[in-house]
Amino acid sequence: MNKRDYGEHKSLQEKVRFFKKVCYKHGLKITPQRVAIYKELISSQKHPSAIMIFRKIRNYFPNISLGTVNSTLLTYAKIGIAKVVESSGDPKRFDPQLEPHHHFRCMKCGKIVDFHHDAYDAITIPAAINKKFVILEKIVHLAGLCDKCRTKAKR
Ligand SMILES: [Zn+2]
Ligand SMILES: [Zn+2]
Repeated sequence: MNKRDYGEHKSLQEKVRFFKKVCYKHGLKITPQRVAIYKELISSQKHPSAIMIFRKIRNYFPNISLGTVNSTLLTYAKIGIAKVVESSGDPKRFDPQLEPHHHFRCMKCGKIVDFHHDAYDAITIPAAINKKFVILEKIVHLAGLCDKCRTKAKR
């Protein structure tokens, strides 16, 4: 399979189809709530946390709990339709973008921005690490101040 197959160019419908396929494969029942959580996750550009998704979802599923949203997102991470953003601390932040990419995180407001950079994709693993571990993923994480927070800091 093409590794860029889950790219951001896919339409919402295609992504939902992919979602359903993976759920089916893992024996996860496809409920309207689960579809709604997934749709909310993929339409947010913010690498949302469970609470951010919960605040949106409860508008149309008033009985849903934060615990349910949280465990659903963790299940998505487990079956490979979302990722937990590393180094995002607490609460966990989720990423629907499965294509390899890197992150910038603002240390002040917590904003996480995706970016692509070929040189980072091609980064070499130190020999000592390579000997000891099997590397399956390479994500470069940059942290600092976003444009908004930087302007505020200057004042
Ligand atoms: Zn910021
Ligand atoms: Zn991301």
